[in-house]
Amino acid sequence: MRISFHGAAHTVTGSQHLLEVNGSRLLLDCGLFQGRRADTYERNLNFQHDPRKLDAVVLSHAHIDHSGNLPNLVKQGFAHQIHATRATVDLANLMVRDSGHIQEADAEFVNRKRAQRGEPPIEPLYTKEDAERASDHFLGEEYDAPFEPVPGVIVRFHEAGHILGSAGISLEIEEKGRKILLWFSGDIGRFELPLLRDPVLPQNADYMIMECTYGDKPHNDPQQAFIEFQKVVKRTVERGGKIIIPSFAVGRTQELVYHLNTMMHNRDVPQIPVFVDSPLAVETTKVFRSHTECFDPETRRFVEEARHPALDFKMLTYIQSVEESKQLNERNEPMVIISASGMAETGRILHHIKNNLGDPRNTICIVSWQAPDTLGRRLADRETEVRIFGESPQMKCEVATIGGLSGHAGQDLLVKYAMGVRGRVKRIFLVHGEEKQAGILRGLLKDRKLDAVHYPGLHESVLV
Ligand SMILES: [Zn+2]
Ligand SMILES: [Zn+2]
Repeated sequence: MRISFHGAAHTVTGSQHLLEVNGSRLLLDCGLFQGRRADTYERNLNFQHDPRKLDAVVLSHAHIDHSGNLPNLVKQGFAHQIHATRATVDLANLMVRDSGHIQEADAEFVNRKRAQRGEPPIEPLYTKEDAERASDHFLGEEYDAPFEPVPGVIVRFHEAGHILGSAGISLEIEEKGRKILLWFSGDIGRFELPLLRDPVLPQNADYMIMECTYGDKPHNDPQQAFIEFQKVVKRTVERGGKIIIPSFAVGRTQELVYHLNTMMHNRDVPQIPVFVDSPLAVETTKVFRSHTECFDPETRRFVEEARHPALDFKMLTYIQSVEESKQLNERNEPMVIISASGMAETGRILHHIKNNLGDPRNTICIVSWQAPDTLGRRLADRETEVRIFGESPQMKCEVATIGGLSGHAGQDLLVKYAMGVRGRVKRIFLVHGEEKQAGILRGLLKDRKLDAVHYPGLHESVLV
């Protein structure tokens, strides 16, 4: 068997790993690489393997850094099935369409600049229509139920506790009379996150491909993050300001709404309006309602009583139209605005940031990991001069970063996860993490007698 690491290698985004086994070719994830626009376009456009020769794709979860290049794969000739959990199929359907729309808008923006320089236009990476075509290839699977995407490879999805539908993937591979157990972690979630079930840890594997996003530090526990978030809301409201939160429309947004619902219900913060400014969030709501099988027992009880803690409460408004979104700028009272994209690269959040960062009463609240070279990262790094729509507005608002809300395992859980396979495992491949994070985690695993840990380079191929 050969494993080639075609994405999320020495970086976090663009998850894509190719398995070649028994003459078949199976792709694990096909995500978008995110970062500086000039670097990402070429890298996402050009696959280092032939999509026409792939036999199947297995998708760990719907996040765009895992699913976002599937439309391009189909556009370039991939003709078979994309296996994912049923909830992931529904979410990924929404997300790739939304991404198609973003790709079209992005290309338009770039082409305006190119036209000024007398350069020929570029094609969007893919269109909304391409994304719809990719949707036809999705095939929903149950958690824990075996399926055989290519001959000799039995695959199962296990709860990853990261977002709705997320899975760790076990593969029982039979090749030339030899049995190999491979485990692909996808993105590892956390214990006791609101809404979701706890992640299943691997117990047995010969080889493991494992994420290491937060290999450098343990997280605050979710409760601590909740308290921090509450303090941010409280002090901003006391100043009479707005709280602006760039957030992924799927997953993090529902979690934030859940937290805001809880803190207002308990009267820990004043009742202020909460706006989720994202058409995608409305669609996501429907998916959340139809996949109660993915929730923890507490949430399921809420849903059965027809009250969804992540989706409904009195102060909450979902905004669809651009007009309503613009009207928010004219309102001056304290409020929370949650809007996509999560790294503040595109979408309506850009307007909200631009309109609010000049007022010292306001807070921009960063609630997730931010890729290098994104606006979100520059804000999180407290750069005093940021550019938005070609302008450099004066930065006067507070920027608060809340790390513990992450849907990713912190260092302690990553160590525990890897220890689950110690004894049998021949090699662990660390992916989906920057160099520093991978290095620190590798050191910790070495201290625990897990020596065979490799941090593969981009497009590196390994025979096992
Ligand atoms: Zn993810
Ligand atoms: Zn990821």
